[in-house]
Amino acid sequence: MKKLVVITGASSGFGKALALEFNKAGYPLLLIARRIDLLKELKLSDTICEKVDVTDRAALESAIRKAEGVYGKTDLIINNAGIMLLGNLETQSTEEWQRMLDVNVMGVMHGMQIVMPDMKERQGGTIINLSSIAGVKPFGNHAAYCATKYGVVGLSEVARGELSSHNVRVMRICPGAVDTELVGHTTSDDIKAAYSDWKAATGVGSITAEDVAKTIKFAYELPQGVNLREIQIADTRQDA
Ligand code: NDP
Repeated sequence: MKKLVVITGASSGFGKALALEFNKAGYPLLLIARRIDLLKELKLSDTICEKVDVTDRAALESAIRKAEGVYGKTDLIINNAGIMLLGNLETQSTEEWQRMLDVNVMGVMHGMQIVMPDMKERQGGTIINLSSIAGVKPFGNHAAYCATKYGVVGLSEVARGELSSHNVRVMRICPGAVDTELVGHTTSDDIKAAYSDWKAATGVGSITAEDVAKTIKFAYELPQGVNLREIQIADTRQDA
């Protein structure tokens, strides 16, 4: 059997597409999200579904250890769980900033720290973190979200260097706008409308979560000695 793949945020969007893609290729999976009913509805073979909030490090670790008890050590973790609450820095609530920092940054670091020691020990393994094009360039009303996604780029690159001598790969994926549930969580209707208007005006809409999932699987399936450190992937019509 292939090695264990852990996917956080697998109940929708990229995470769900990743779960389907890796399952099709025969990888045993641990799927993490809060909406466990959506994970179970996928009815995937060789898959453990766990209701975990990635901000809860202990719960995440216990889910990973449970899956490792069944399928062996984690060979790939995709730290994908994330939220995007767009807002203006001057008016957005500190509660929204904190929530994004907790999920998008702390959640990613929890996932990394839990699997790192074993990967170092085994001299192999891959960590893939979801950043964003908003992690490499700024966008209006994205201040706090950009802070989290620039953060993911920074911490991924530091960890990549630190793990390089142990033959462990750290990659970051920086997608542009792709239709998922992500925008729906922003609380400002004006900002959501402006986002839709921008997408309509540019014609962004061809790229899918499946395209992103296939690209991540391609990067993972390169030989362990090859590290595609950063992937920027966006709709051809995306202007920024
Ligand atoms: P979705 O909103 O469709 O999916 C987000 C996933 O994260 C869901 O499965 C959700 O599950 C999970 N999640 C959210 N909070 C938590 C939490 N606290 N604990 C565990 N799981 C959580 O968005 P996308 O698929 O679009 O986003 C996936 C990643 O890609 C995110 O990191 C996002 O920032 C990034 N990204 C997305 C882009 C896009 O345009 N779609 C562009 C660039 C980056 P549940 O609610 O069940 O817990």
